[in-house]
Amino acid sequence: MPSATVEPGSLRERTKVCGNQDCPSRGRPLPWSAFYAHGKWPDGTMRRPQAKCKRCSNAHRAQWARENKAKTQAARKRYWQHVRERMATDPEFAAEYREEKHFYNADYRRRCGKKPRPRRSSRSPRVLVDAGPFAEWLRARDGGDAVEIAKGVGTWAVTVRNIMDGKVSRVKISTVDAALTFAGEPHRLDELYPLNG
Ligand SMILES: [Zn+2]
Repeated sequence: MPSATVEPGSLRERTKVCGNQDCPSRGRPLPWSAFYAHGKWPDGTMRRPQAKCKRCSNAHRAQWARENKAKTQAARKRYWQHVRERMATDPEFAAEYREEKHFYNADYRRRCGKKPRPRRSSRSPRVLVDAGPFAEWLRARDGGDAVEIAKGVGTWAVTVRNIMDGKVSRVKISTVDAALTFAGEPHRLDELYPLNG
């Protein structure tokens, strides 16, 4: 262990000459903070700096990336092709993959201070149905409660009115279900949209 932690930038900070002969520092000793760590002490301080300074090591990495662009792009393409193929053929993998993707996406959004996107539940799939029967059911009710229905379903009153006026051709079955349930008539779903009809 080092006897004392030396703050980067302090006068006592250790120095080192960059190992790259063409370094812009021209053999001038640079502080350790100008280097990436080759190893770290358990407390996170640098144990040993890398041979090249940060500038040279970044330039070297960028050079490598330029020279190997085609190779890395091909590898990335192969990887995603493989994932897509597995998603299509292995339902267990697909479910796990979606679960994980949702988890990391939600985590990322939370860290950005955003609300995670709602999960598309398998219980309310986005199955679209003909809006006609639902519009008729809406019209058969008192005109005024389009606002109430919209509130209960969690959509806009204008959306409900558009459905009523026949301006919308297809609706989500989950919306119909929510509206009927909200109105206390959940049993009418089968009547409006018979499964084998
Ligand atoms: Zn250098």
